[in-house]
Amino acid sequence: MPLVRYRKVVILGYRSVGKTSLAHQFVEGEFLEGYDPTVENTYSKIVTLGKDEFHLHLVDTAGQDEYSILPYSFIIGVHGYVLVYSVTSLHSFQVIESLYQKLHEGHGKTRLPVVLVGNKADLSPYREVQADEGKKLAESWGATFMESSARENQLTQGIFTKVIQEIARVENSYGQE
Ligand code: GDP
Repeated sequence: MPLVRYRKVVILGYRSVGKTSLAHQFVEGEFLEGYDPTVENTYSKIVTLGKDEFHLHLVDTAGQDEYSILPYSFIIGVHGYVLVYSVTSLHSFQVIESLYQKLHEGHGKTRLPVVLVGNKADLSPYREVQADEGKKLAESWGATFMESSARENQLTQGIFTKVIQEIARVENSYGQE
């Protein structure tokens, strides 16, 4: 019997960037049309990666801005983060930077397992944030960067697979220090 490891991952970002759509696409395999403001929602899914099984517990949050105070429940007992902005909104990208700083401080400035996601990449005519800006920001944190579209199941699966791998990578790097 494989060991099932529990992983709690919180999805953060400005409102309307596609957090719920990504979580829904990942868990239900379909794209949500239309805007439905989230209060806070949780999802569970068993994810198999090679020989390992993970019980992924996702927390989809209501959306934050640069003034938000992050509750302890977003820090304590959380293994990793998916930080989402929309490539069509420079403001949502700026908010991510301040959210990361708050998380980093909340975790005592340790290295965090983070996947930075530039969502809505299918809306290229409306793009306000270039892929290399996202890539550079993620690199400055030692995190992973991906662009995605919640319309695309494969891309969305990739995000949540990646965050599980990031959690393992950061855990292993502590073992080697
Ligand atoms: P949240 O507030 O961050 O959870 O954002 P939602 O998931 O509710 O999405 C806000 C709006 O953007 C909805 O109308 C979605 O259908 C739309 N949306 C979300 N992700 C994408 C995407 O990748 N591409 C496009 N074209 N629309 C998206």
